[in-house]
Amino acid sequence: PDYEHIFYVTTKLKDRLVPLSAQESKDFSDLSVTQVRNPEGLERLADGKIILNGRALLGSDVAIRRGHLRLPDGGVYQLVPGESQRFKAYRVQHNQARGPYKGGIRYHREVSLDLFKALAAEMTWKTAISEVPFGGGKGGIQIDPRQYGKEELENITLRFMYKLKNLIGPNIDIPAPDVGTNGEIMALMYRQYSDGERERHHLRGIVTGKDVRIGGSEGRAKATGQGVAFCIEDYYADRGESVKGKTFLLQGFGNVGSHGAAILSNMGARLLAVNDADGTIFNGDGIDVTALTAYVQDPKNLKRSVLGFPGAQRIEKKDLWDIPADILFPAALGGEITAEVAERLKVKLIAEGANGPTTPDADRVLLKRGIDLIPDIIANAGGVTVSYYEWIQNKRMERWSEAEVDQRLERAMKRNYRIIRDISRNQPRKTEMHDSRAYCIGKTVDPRCAAMILALKRIEAHYLLEGFSQ
Ligand code: GLU
Repeated sequence: PDYEHIFYVTTKLKDRLVPLSAQESKDFSDLSVTQVRNPEGLERLADGKIILNGRALLGSDVAIRRGHLRLPDGGVYQLVPGESQRFKAYRVQHNQARGPYKGGIRYHREVSLDLFKALAAEMTWKTAISEVPFGGGKGGIQIDPRQYGKEELENITLRFMYKLKNLIGPNIDIPAPDVGTNGEIMALMYRQYSDGERERHHLRGIVTGKDVRIGGSEGRAKATGQGVAFCIEDYYADRGESVKGKTFLLQGFGNVGSHGAAILSNMGARLLAVNDADGTIFNGDGIDVTALTAYVQDPKNLKRSVLGFPGAQRIEKKDLWDIPADILFPAALGGEITAEVAERLKVKLIAEGANGPTTPDADRVLLKRGIDLIPDIIANAGGVTVSYYEWIQNKRMERWSEAEVDQRLERAMKRNYRIIRDISRNQPRKTEMHDSRAYCIGKTVDPRCAAMILALKRIEAHYLLEGFSQ
């Protein structure tokens, strides 16, 4: 990469309750059950840790001993006073030959410099394939956001942007949401970046993925899932088939998975199973995506998990891979489809909504077994493509309709996916839609290789025509 930034973000946390293990709890079994007056405080119990809402809990008739208390759920908790905590933060700026660095902000416990370097490089290839005038970047914080309250996350985000501010800009490096972040985090980032600036409305393009009410684009929230669906639609159209009646398995029910599944089911496909961080559910007759989305978003569903959804039964994660279906749609973290998983799969197509879901070993197995693949750098490029539309709208102070965004996205995704297919088949063509003559390399290659060829050729043009001094 061009630059690797590592820094620390320090913030004062609120008082919290940390659950004790069954063994540790024994000493406190005589503590009477606490009556908590503030139900909000209790709501967070399912997360494992709860954040005390001020001192409300202590004010009630709590049985406390040496800072421990027992709550109506039977668990014993240790009261840990709020302290300052330091989080490791990153921003990798991989390449800017084609435009400003661009890529998401990830809040996750398992991040590292190596991971961000790989993800930032993926953004460089993805922006090139999508033909948006950006380079690649990625960053984030080593944090499990589910363990922190809203106010804490707000403080952490503001501190993060305070330090990031010198490294980025609307024409330099433009963050967006990724795993563990969303439009709310983007709003805070914009606020912090533009705070005190006289021309702050001209700085809206500092982040994309904002809420539509504050300068985000229509269609951005669903864009990644929408893009995956467009690719799948085009894959079948190319074979003279339709998405209608196809079955799919989904991994991950976050932004990409939930929107993608809803769009695919509107196209007439049937969702058979979903896996998320907490478990896996299955229904051979098809899972109602609208009902599942409502179930996951219900405030009573503290973990926001698909588990417990009444319209499906629980199965083991390992059994997900054995379910016969047309499509596997990974939309969670990287490295999930290993060689071993690839040997077992009974699907015909994998459409990579996640970044890097398939290991290189698994790639070889999939090729050998004849399972088709729509690689991540084309399949999930819808997000960054609509990020670009948002950035243009911010620059021009315009607002495009959802129909206009969708139409542009569909054209862009399908055009670029077709070029990749042409390269893959060594089929140099100039059509009204596109020109793949410049990219074919004289032999057939697998789709991931074809996608890389397209990306590298488009980047190479900048080095060749502008000189090698980038
Ligand atoms: N995080 C998304 C991705 O991996 C979106 C990035 C962006 O819009 O800049 O593609």
